[in-house]
Amino acid sequence: MGVSATCYSGPYIKAKIELKKTPYDVNACPKVECRNYRKDSSSVKFCDSCGSEITKQTRTKMSPTVDWWDLTEKMHEALSVRQNDSAPKDFNLYVPNHGRGQKRKHSFSPDYTDYFFLESVEPEAEIAWFKEMFADEIKAVEEAYGSDKVTIGWGIISYLS
Ligand SMILES: [Zn+2]
Repeated sequence: MGVSATCYSGPYIKAKIELKKTPYDVNACPKVECRNYRKDSSSVKFCDSCGSEITKQTRTKMSPTVDWWDLTEKMHEALSVRQNDSAPKDFNLYVPNHGRGQKRKHSFSPDYTDYFFLESVEPEAEIAWFKEMFADEIKAVEEAYGSDKVTIGWGIISYLS
């Protein structure tokens, strides 16, 4: 099994990720200065570093206001998100999950010289098609992120597959 660099070229939605404080429960050492303060210690009764009793605490972490996975599920996966560990942390990219009747996904092997041409592409026309075809989904993304956080454009997105 090899790794391919896959390129999508076409319209996309770029949605700015905002973070919010999210509470979560953890069983941990209650002493802030203890090295086990951040460690989940559910399996023990007492801290193995300072001896304090492990207690259930509510803490907060910063997490995105929008769960893109939930959102794509709600949209019946009409759009998908190019997301992995190396994806940008400040925005999500949504691309159509079904095409325009032409192949516009390109996979490249790092071992070969390869190319694709974009001579006959009309980005403005494709963006217009995208806005019409995915009007409901675009609205859902705007409602989730806030319409001032969402832009629609045309570009090339590369990811490993
Ligand atoms: Zn401790």
